[in-house]
Amino acid sequence: MEQLTPMMRQYLEVHEKVKDAILFFRLGDFYEMFFDDAITASRELDITLTGRECGLDEKAPMCGVPYHAAESYIAKLIEKGYKVAICEQVEDPKEAKGIVKRDIVRVLSPGTMTEGKYLKEHSNNYLMSICGNVLETGIAYVDLSTGEFYVTQFSIYENKGLLLDEIAKINPSELLMNTVVYKDKGINDALSRTSNGYINVLPNRYFELERSKNRIAQAMSVYSVHSLGLENRELAMKAAGALLAYIEETQMQVMQHVNALHYYDVGQFMALDHATRSNLELTKTIRGGEKKGSLLGLLDKTRTSMGSRKLKQWLDEPLTDAKKINLRLEAVEILFDQPMQRDTLKNRLEQIYDLKRLVGKMSMGTCNAKDLLALKDSIYQIPPIKEVMLALNAPLWEEMIRSLDDLGDIGELLERSIDPDPPLSVKEGNMIRDGYHEEVDHYREITTDSKNLLLKMEQREREKSGIRSLKIKYNKVFGYYIEVTNSNLSSVPPDYIRKQTLANSERYFTPELKELENSILEADQKLEELEYILFQEIRSEILKSLDRIKTTAEIISQVDVLYALAQVSFENNYIRPKVDESKEILIVEGRHPVVESMLENNAFVPNSVEVDTKDNRMIIITGPNMAGKSTYIRQIALIVLMAQTGCFVPAAQAKIGVVDRIFTRVGASDDLASGHSTFMVEMSEVSNILQNATKDSLVILDEVGRGTSTFDGLSIAWAVVEHLVDHVGCKTFFATHYHELTEMEEVKEGVRNYCIKVQERETGVLFLRKIVSGSADKSYGIEVAKLAGLPEPVIRRANELLVVLEQKEDKVKKSKSLAQTLPIVEDRVNLFNYKDKQIIEELDQLPLDEMTPMESMNYLYALKKRV
Ligand code: ADP
Repeated sequence: MEQLTPMMRQYLEVHEKVKDAILFFRLGDFYEMFFDDAITASRELDITLTGRECGLDEKAPMCGVPYHAAESYIAKLIEKGYKVAICEQVEDPKEAKGIVKRDIVRVLSPGTMTEGKYLKEHSNNYLMSICGNVLETGIAYVDLSTGEFYVTQFSIYENKGLLLDEIAKINPSELLMNTVVYKDKGINDALSRTSNGYINVLPNRYFELERSKNRIAQAMSVYSVHSLGLENRELAMKAAGALLAYIEETQMQVMQHVNALHYYDVGQFMALDHATRSNLELTKTIRGGEKKGSLLGLLDKTRTSMGSRKLKQWLDEPLTDAKKINLRLEAVEILFDQPMQRDTLKNRLEQIYDLKRLVGKMSMGTCNAKDLLALKDSIYQIPPIKEVMLALNAPLWEEMIRSLDDLGDIGELLERSIDPDPPLSVKEGNMIRDGYHEEVDHYREITTDSKNLLLKMEQREREKSGIRSLKIKYNKVFGYYIEVTNSNLSSVPPDYIRKQTLANSERYFTPELKELENSILEADQKLEELEYILFQEIRSEILKSLDRIKTTAEIISQVDVLYALAQVSFENNYIRPKVDESKEILIVEGRHPVVESMLENNAFVPNSVEVDTKDNRMIIITGPNMAGKSTYIRQIALIVLMAQTGCFVPAAQAKIGVVDRIFTRVGASDDLASGHSTFMVEMSEVSNILQNATKDSLVILDEVGRGTSTFDGLSIAWAVVEHLVDHVGCKTFFATHYHELTEMEEVKEGVRNYCIKVQERETGVLFLRKIVSGSADKSYGIEVAKLAGLPEPVIRRANELLVVLEQKEDKVKKSKSLAQTLPIVEDRVNLFNYKDKQIIEELDQLPLDEMTPMESMNYLYALKKRV
């Protein structure tokens, strides 16, 4: 350390504070990186690695980026999973004794990004905090770019899956957690699969209750946390407290817009696990992970980016309360019926900027005058939107109007104060409108007067010298000067003082010009300073109305979502579903919204369904490959989900009894990255379903058991169906190629067989895509293979072999069907043994050292209830 140069010593001292980040160390116009950071950054950013004398024998590795272009480099590093700490000069170099003081001003990580390329316009960027013990979990998450802040708490004792579902829904880009949660093997495993999040395990001091309460109260500007609905929700408070502490530590400034938190109850939303979200391609496709081709991609007719993010939130959180769902449906319906109003909304919404992120920028002090103009232009759209809303006679619209503030005073202030064509920078003046402030007008007069004087002077000097091409010009380095071309040098008056010589001309000044220059530059500088001060004042004035703007932004985003749902429903011929608390689902002529949109000429064949928790609770669907089984069962899940989101549905008629969860196990998606085989993944997903499905759930199973040998697979499939029918009683759709399963219809109450019709023809099979009662008689595997283009000789040979195999099978087959020969299910088969094993495993993992006596006691009580 002693040998190092003072600057390098300073560098290393600062770096000590943020060991896990790459340090951007400000030197002049560059951010420099040294040592290991330099090696890493030069590799990741593809920039040249050089060296710098540092006092040691060898030069320190170094690389750097210009400060004005730093943003894109930072975004790149963050995207690759690094943290970046920004170190600036924190004192005026003129006043510094010795080396200028430098310190960290901000630490950037995926979850704390508030601007720039890293943020996606159409999705939120969440920083999430989890504080859990073995019984319960508290969650808090915030989007720092918009200030949206949510907290919840729930029991995970019976169902750890709930926490994983929340993580899958929130899809945070960065996670904070306490050690208990981090050490939980189940959670850790799932995290590696569900989240691309960057994980920080924070020590317990971050989660201290009293400190958390204080932090929350301070951020929310309330006297005590009681007014926030957090009583007795200690883990939620701890999670939120740690979140705020982390933000404070890394952002080093007050985040004024993070000033409201919303407590929610996980039960108010339909639970969807990671596999289900991904299988149903709700917000992105399985292959490619793109929005286009997903349900969100189809439904997103929103006109603002706030609306687009809100729609994603709605789809991520379908409701479970029929009353609330109907409020949304009613609001959509009334707009659906009024094309003119939809049109007005569309035109107006289109002109509204991202107010939520604008508010974030304003509160963090990074906004410029153009941002304020964007706010003004958006505000101008509110009255006509309000007018449309007034014409829409439905409770939800009325409720929204009540909280919609048209922010007229702010619009008026901005109209008066901000120039309609301001520069990007806030330090160059030209932002404040003429007439807003006397002093600004005064300085402007000086500069315009002086500029007129300059013109007059130019005219006079021309006449005086007789040089017609004489010009008075200005540049940033030399200021004002008189330029005379070489051919006229002989006529230059004697009082001109030479300033600069160029190839073709000479530049001069006179005492009079110098004086004028001084007064212009002085006025300009004063003006720039004053305009900057006024700009800050206007910004603070507007920030006083932060809450009003936030509320209006939230309502506009909801208006946009309702518009989008009405518009897409209209364009695609959807109908309003009847949603109630019954246990039935009845869909007449339903369609798969996404597949339908990809087919031309209305080629999609609609299909109906009726399912309940009694006689029709287990629907077994057979039919050849490619017949449309997967499409059919997914379309049912999607229609239910759309209905519970508040959207119309692709059907001729639909009656949806709300479901609490949708589970799907669809297709075989290899999870090679995490080292699990297809079959393991399939079985763990099925196991999740068997443990967590309730009577009110909707379960979609596609080809379960395919990943292993026929007999194993069939036995597993059979046992799963039995369990669901006998012990869970949920609504289930099971698409399978095991024909044996259809025999269950005869022996089990609640089981129904459906199959998909195909027509056999000389030239091969024809898919009719029509679902009918009954079971498929043949699997048509070879016909489908033929359609897929398998060579003719191979097809012929396969047909020969099939005949032989079928004859052999017929001989072996007993006269009784499988259903009649199987052993009877004993009643005690209820996962009892499974639970025993699970409890032992849990005890084994229990972090006793980290639990308080009270927590251990509660755990024991809860355990006792379970055995
Ligand atoms: P399976 O699960 O039986 O193998 P899929 O559901 O994957 O079959 O359907 C195969 C293809 O058939 C789909 O990609 C889709 O293009 C088409 N398809 C499925 N159902 C329909 C339908 N109802 N109307 C029109 N085309 C359909």
